[in-house]
Amino acid sequence: MDITFFQNIRKSLRAKFTIILLIVGIIPLTGASLFFYYTAKDALFKNVFKELKWNANEMQGIIQEHFSDTGKDLIIASKNTAFTMYFLDPLNKHNWVKEQQKTLQHFRKIYPDIIDEACFIEASGQEVSRIVLDEVSHQHQLSSDEDRSIFFKEAFLLGDGEVYQGKPVISEDTHRWVLPNATPIIVNGRKAAILHFEVNLSYFQLLLKKLINPDRGYGFILNDSGEFIAHTVLNLNDKEPLRPAITPETPPALVNIYKRMLTGESGIEQFNAGGQDYYAIFQPIAASYNKGRNDNRWAIAYVIPSDRVYVELAILRYNVLALGFTFLIVIILAYVIGNYITKPIRQLAGATNKLASGEMPKIEVGRADELGQLSDSFNLMVEAIKRRDEALKALAITDGLTGMYNHRYFKTELEKYIKTAQRYNRPVSLIMADIDFFKHYNDTHGHAQGDMALKKVAEVFMKNVREIDIAARYGGEEFVVILPETSLEGALKVAERLRKKVEEEIIPYEDMQPNGDVTVSIGVATFPDNAPDPAMLVEAADKELYKSKEVGRNQVCPKSVV
Ligand code: GH3
Ligand code: MG
Ligand code: MG
Repeated sequence: MDITFFQNIRKSLRAKFTIILLIVGIIPLTGASLFFYYTAKDALFKNVFKELKWNANEMQGIIQEHFSDTGKDLIIASKNTAFTMYFLDPLNKHNWVKEQQKTLQHFRKIYPDIIDEACFIEASGQEVSRIVLDEVSHQHQLSSDEDRSIFFKEAFLLGDGEVYQGKPVISEDTHRWVLPNATPIIVNGRKAAILHFEVNLSYFQLLLKKLINPDRGYGFILNDSGEFIAHTVLNLNDKEPLRPAITPETPPALVNIYKRMLTGESGIEQFNAGGQDYYAIFQPIAASYNKGRNDNRWAIAYVIPSDRVYVELAILRYNVLALGFTFLIVIILAYVIGNYITKPIRQLAGATNKLASGEMPKIEVGRADELGQLSDSFNLMVEAIKRRDEALKALAITDGLTGMYNHRYFKTELEKYIKTAQRYNRPVSLIMADIDFFKHYNDTHGHAQGDMALKKVAEVFMKNVREIDIAARYGGEEFVVILPETSLEGALKVAERLRKKVEEEIIPYEDMQPNGDVTVSIGVATFPDNAPDPAMLVEAADKELYKSKEVGRNQVCPKSVV
């Protein structure tokens, strides 16, 4: 945008209209669009964050519920009399063991995919009854050193109705990652045994996969050692060591989030991994049965790619398209309106230029508005100028006193006629007349009366020449008549008639003239016979006029065609 652009705007009404329409049309639209874009964006992000939070809370709630439910069910199972009667009724041990096995199997039925193993262990560490998956273990399969297990030691520290929920361990029976749950069995106020079961860790993986729509995002659970307990995308093998979340390949932004999760923080973070932006929500899981102890310090996270958010935001980009379209419409409108308004003005400007160069233009804008009125006024002005021009032209070629053509007009017309006559080889005759004794008339009756007489003689000349002849006042009391297409013979006849008409005309005080009348003496000459050009034709006619004066005045010379 250089200086000339602004100069053009300054000079062009159409450009100004474009600017005004742009300001009126585009600015509010842009403002509104931006406002709606940002408010919609805000609302959209709020919704996304709400969704993130909801998902995280849902995941957290279900996992907490799991711990709570399994703990509660373990306590309920522990209240079965078969466990205490085993000690109180030693004679029927065998039956009570059978009863215990039924209880354990029932437990497995409640949690079919979750519980890998359940067992009842004496204080000595001897297993009394046990099931592994759906199988009841035989006597010889039972171990006697369970008292060295952590869960055993920890559960033994707890009181009646309290549950120990331990960190993941590899199950001795299924060789898979499991979570031990255990509660003490109190008999006569003495801790007599432990009821224990193992929850398969892959259960949490399945749970997360069920909760999270893979098209939308992914989720994971991290333990306080920075290992994945569950991950909806990674294929965690429940027989391999737990996989650490932070590896040398982990993007720094994600490492930061993992570290914050390990310290028990919660939050929402945007991060970039592999050139893709994500939103992650993370929070710790308050995972504990309300009575007892849970060693699992977990945190969950739910992650969605940012472009999931932007897909919905993309709809808002249609606004930009609408804006562009409006811009186009405004430009077209501005052009059309600008054109509509400025067209008559440009027509007027063009016509005015023509007027200045001497033309008499008429414009037709076909409009009834102010611009139509302006062009009507312009046309009226042109008409007035035309009339005045014509009047001026007439004035310029007319003699003021007599109303005849003046000397200047006579000269130019004579030249014109002779030029035409030369081209077509035609004759042009010239009559030259002079009032006789006019000095005497003036001297006797005064100059004013002299003018009156001059006018009368002029009238006789104007009345008695043909339409095509040009009668002019040559100067003083001398008159000339140009007779186109007329030979000397014809011209002499006209001259004689004019002489006679003047003689016959009644003019005041003419009887007091030296010859008793106001008369004219006339000389006639013809182009090309008597003279080859205008000046010499005047001279020749003048010479004949002089002759007429000499031979007695009131005569026409030459007397005959030689
Ligand atoms: P001649 O017969 O030899 O032509 O005699 P003349 O008196 O007409 O000749 P002269 O040339 O001596 O005089 C011309 C006179 O015409 C002189 C002047 O007073 C008069 N005259 C010329 N122009 C005008 C005019 O416009 N108005 C009046 N009133 N007189 C005019
Ligand atoms: Mg004279
Ligand atoms: Mg005279």
